[in-house]
Amino acid sequence: MSKVYNFSAGPSMLPESVLKQAQAEMLDWQGSGMSVMEMSHRGAEFMGIAETLHNDLRELMAIPDNYKLLFLQGGATAQFSFIPANILGDKTKACYVNTGAWSGKALEVAKSYCDVVVSASAEANNFTAIPNSSTWNIDQQAAYLHYTPNETIHGLEFANVPEVGNLPLVADMSSNILSRQIDVSKFGLIYAGSQKNMGPAGVTVVIVREDLIGKAQSGLPDVFNYQQQVEHESMLNTPATYSWYLVGLVLQWLKAQGGIAGIEQVNQRKAQNLYAAIDRSDLYSNPVAIADRSRMNVPFILADKGLESVFLKAAQEQGFLALKGHRLLGGMRASLYNAMPESGVEALVQFMAEFERTH
Ligand SMILES: *Cc1c(COP(=O)(O)O)cnc(C)c1O
Repeated sequence: MSKVYNFSAGPSMLPESVLKQAQAEMLDWQGSGMSVMEMSHRGAEFMGIAETLHNDLRELMAIPDNYKLLFLQGGATAQFSFIPANILGDKTKACYVNTGAWSGKALEVAKSYCDVVVSASAEANNFTAIPNSSTWNIDQQAAYLHYTPNETIHGLEFANVPEVGNLPLVADMSSNILSRQIDVSKFGLIYAGSQKNMGPAGVTVVIVREDLIGKAQSGLPDVFNYQQQVEHESMLNTPATYSWYLVGLVLQWLKAQGGIAGIEQVNQRKAQNLYAAIDRSDLYSNPVAIADRSRMNVPFILADKGLESVFLKAAQEQGFLALKGHRLLGGMRASLYNAMPESGVEALVQFMAEFERTH
């Protein structure tokens, strides 16, 4: 198979060196005689893998000591429900900011747990610009404020962490975790599914401040209860062991790239390169306000809609995979997660220019 670049929004491409290491260790992990898939999650070998995973994530994101790390199952979608059930405590409302498809889903699910205050919504501008946080309606009686720092489908990303007073800030970082430096201490809770920027599907990382633990609704099953999972180190039941291992390999790869500070610069250059190509062309366009454009997910459309299928077919033939946009929006989308090399974006930009020239 010749060289391909996979622009999938998730599950998405992984660093080749990670896949090769997993391949080399597939049948015999470090002389144990077992594949990681075959190991007991309570055995010494896997406990070592788990400890390294915890330590590496803490180090990479500079997570303060008063935050607990959980590696759960069920994806970000499960967390939409578990968050209100875990952290509302005796409060009856929560604030939600609606900037696109994913924050909209989180907001809808929360309605079955509490009164939802919609602090801001980008619906009026068709999710092409983030309302300035100085205009948000923030109810200080709410239990927390939830937002989505990067909207994977609409291609919007917050350039900065919003100021929300004393409310714990809850963030769905599924599609931009580990892509840029953030100050974890500004957040009450961060969660992210693994399959966009951390590894294969199967793990959901939850980073939760200690004071938000221990407030779960009575009757919430133990596996969904943060306090229970903290006490059992995310092993109240069998965790997704092989996914933990692969996320661990991705974190080690990331450390070798200069950590998040290093990859952030690469991500910035990749996004600049692609947006500049879109903006100077007459064929391609991206509708998002420049300050709110996502570095991770770049949606774009063609001026001539009839050319879309021609574009996608030509792209596929030349090894540019998964550029078809989300079914909600149509058009195209290029996802530029950490594992996408700069050469992949450069090759895409050249392909797009050549396509415009010949069509
Ligand atoms: C992909 C995605 C989700 C959903 O993740 P699942 O693992 O399918 O539950 C939620 N939020 C954001 C921002 C996403 O990108």
